[in-house]
Amino acid sequence: MIFLLRSIWIFSTAFAVNKPVNYKAEYNSPVDIPIILAGNFGELRPNHFHTGIDIKTNGKEGYNLCSIADGYVSRIKTSSNGYGKVLYVNHPEFGITSVYAHCQNFRGKIADYTVQAQFEAQFYEIDIEIPANALLVKRGEIIGLSGNSGSSTAPHLHFEIRETTTENPLNPLLFNFLQINDSRAPHLEQLVVYALSANGYRIPEKRITVPIKNDKGRYHIANDTIDIPAHFCSEHGGIGLGLSAHDKYNASENVCGIYKGILMLNQDTVHTQIMNRMDFEASRQINTHKDYEAYKKSRVKIDKYFRTTHNTLPIYEENIGNGILGLQPDHHYALTFSIADFVGNSSILAFIIRALPGVIREETTPYDQYHIDYLYPDSAYVFTSKKYAIKLGKNSFYEPVKRIVQEANGKLTFGNSADPVHSPFIIGLPIPELIKTHKNKIILYLKEGNKAFIGIEENNWYYAEVRNFGGFSLDIDTIAPELKAKFKKTTNPQSLKKLSWSIMDNMSGIKYYALFINGVYQLLEYEHKRNEVFASIVELEPGKHQIKIVARDKVGNERIIEDEIWVQ
Ligand SMILES: [Zn+2]
Repeated sequence: MIFLLRSIWIFSTAFAVNKPVNYKAEYNSPVDIPIILAGNFGELRPNHFHTGIDIKTNGKEGYNLCSIADGYVSRIKTSSNGYGKVLYVNHPEFGITSVYAHCQNFRGKIADYTVQAQFEAQFYEIDIEIPANALLVKRGEIIGLSGNSGSSTAPHLHFEIRETTTENPLNPLLFNFLQINDSRAPHLEQLVVYALSANGYRIPEKRITVPIKNDKGRYHIANDTIDIPAHFCSEHGGIGLGLSAHDKYNASENVCGIYKGILMLNQDTVHTQIMNRMDFEASRQINTHKDYEAYKKSRVKIDKYFRTTHNTLPIYEENIGNGILGLQPDHHYALTFSIADFVGNSSILAFIIRALPGVIREETTPYDQYHIDYLYPDSAYVFTSKKYAIKLGKNSFYEPVKRIVQEANGKLTFGNSADPVHSPFIIGLPIPELIKTHKNKIILYLKEGNKAFIGIEENNWYYAEVRNFGGFSLDIDTIAPELKAKFKKTTNPQSLKKLSWSIMDNMSGIKYYALFINGVYQLLEYEHKRNEVFASIVELEPGKHQIKIVARDKVGNERIIEDEIWVQ
């Protein structure tokens, strides 16, 4: 990541203080086409909640993107993954920052500023903060074109509104200029009952899935009743409920997330979730908000209407006892789910839970009490031996996990790769004799997912930060990225719109790439989805030109292709 401070920060007085968020102002639409959503705020995505809205662009790129209010461009980032080409525009008068991601390109002075920074860095990927007076924009000004850059899988605009002071993303629909036609109520799919410990940990194998039916608009379950065996219940724990539901807008069939979910016991609200605000620091706790295993196994998205004591997501409004329902055998309980979309279309599911007579569960599992064979989220851990070093802080994971620490032939197995990890932690392994001669080419390799982590060497050990459980070993990457021209040398490059090369790296991954024509840097973009680097052709004089293309991986293996092109 390259950070440039291009000039001294000079705040004009109007921008000195961010005002509180103004939800009511007359903002401009970020696009000049009708807004149809492919995704909404708070949708459950892998490892994060969706922090904006996805606006459809007719499957095409190149629609105008407009600043929603007066302000200034505060940050520009260009990256081959994530948000791709993205603009952040601060609106100090309104307390908000608007974000326009996956752009095809920027426009006017913003484009010029970006290219200048990229040429200074001699690299396509930049992430720069812009002083308040440098790139002023007006409400409705065209600042870029919609695209498909970065980790976008189809052309669209990912649009966010953040509270400037906290950088928390806010639900853009709270700003009433974005009114989307919606008369369809959320669709309810599946109900799940979990047996829980007092901390909200799920007791494995004690899980009941109940299909939800819809008869003429009324949601219900079979017999309107779920029978719970007495051994689900325990003295201090209880049960928790999960619900899978989705929503659709009128103009599209895209499956979107729900806005508000309430679980009630008789007349009391047990648990509420509402998608008004997210916090990037907490967003990864989606892995404890949703039923992670159900998602991993069958891509079903189940919201849990209870939480563990460590869950700090800002989406829960009211809850009694973290949503954990204490049940008594031979009693029954009247429950109601009320699930709504943003404009208030709602779907109701009412049912009875009957705890059957019998003997309750003894609280003796590793989920109820500390057990030597398990690791617990509320503890920090250090494991060291002659063969490995592991260091985890508190809250690195969400629920108790089996303590698996095994080493054999230089391979360390730590934990179960199916369990989610919240915070990065350190793995260290001694460097084997065989690869000591290649100390600067070492990577920490994770078998599951074929991942490489780059770390540091210290006293013949190699340490790297990881965010997965699984099987780790040290390896070396001595192979430079592969590069191959996608144009014929005999072609007059000016007859092409761009020069492109295919690019691949086997282990550590691509870190740097650049193109030089006659020794002068030219902007080269990397599109990881197509494994391609490309440059648009500059005006070249007729005659012979030297071209040099450089690609480097994360441990410094470099490939250079030098060639000549003839311009007629
Ligand atoms: Zn998006």
